[in-house]
Amino acid sequence: MLSNTTRLLIIHALCHLAMIVYFDLSYFLMSFLWWQWIAASAIASGYHRYYSHNSFETGKWYEHYVNILGMFANPGPVLTWASAHKQHHRHADQEKDPHSYIHKGWFACYTNTWGWDANIERIHTKKLFRNKTVMFYYRYYFHIITAIMATLYLIHPVLFTYVFAVPVVLAFHGYGIINILGHRGGKPRNSVLANILTAGEGWHKYHHERSKDWKNGNKWWQWDFAGLWIRAIKHN
Ligand SMILES: [Zn+2]
Ligand SMILES: [Zn+2]
Repeated sequence: MLSNTTRLLIIHALCHLAMIVYFDLSYFLMSFLWWQWIAASAIASGYHRYYSHNSFETGKWYEHYVNILGMFANPGPVLTWASAHKQHHRHADQEKDPHSYIHKGWFACYTNTWGWDANIERIHTKKLFRNKTVMFYYRYYFHIITAIMATLYLIHPVLFTYVFAVPVVLAFHGYGIINILGHRGGKPRNSVLANILTAGEGWHKYHHERSKDWKNGNKWWQWDFAGLWIRAIKHN
C-alpha cells in the first residue's frame, strides 16, 4: 500500500513528464497565468490565509472553491496542509518545524510541502477536524483528483498538460523554493523569486511577524495578488 505522500509524489512526477512530452512555450506562458490565478485565489488565500490563519471571513461557497481549485496544484488536502503550516509557525526553524531544511533535510523540505504523513500535533488539527467540508475533501482527495486528471486527459492530453500538469509543476517548485528561501540562516526571510512563483507569498519575514494579516508585505511595491483577491471577497 502506497503512502499518501508517495501518491502525491507520483502525481507530481506524472505532471513533470506530461510537461516535458507536450512542451510548448506559448501554452506554458498562458498556463503560468492560470497558475497565478490558482495560487492567488485558492492556495495563498484559501489553504494559507483562510484555513491556516483564519485571517478573513467570507461565504461558504469559498470553501468548496478552495478545496476543488486547490487540487489543480496537488498540494494534498486542506486538513494536512493547513495543520502542517500551523505547526510550522508555532515551531519555526526548530526541531518540530515540518518545513525546516536544517532539521528535515533539503530534499524533504523541498518536496514535502503538504504535511501528509508528517508528525502533526493535535492542537493544529482540532478545529479542522470539526469542519465537515474540510473532512469531505480530505476523505475523497484522491478520488476527486483522479477524476479531474482522467477527464482532462481523455478530452485531450494537451488540455491535461496545460490546465492541470503545468500548474502542478509550478506549485511543486514554487512551494519547494519558498520552503528553502523563505527561511535562511534559521530565520524567516523575504524572497522576490518565491513571491513571483506563489502569487504573493514571498514576503515571508513580514508574514511571520504578522501571520493574522490577510495582506502579505507592508510596502506598496510588495506585490501580493492573493491580497487583492481577498480584498474583493472578504466580509470582515
Ligand atoms: Zn515560514
Ligand atoms: Zn502562514
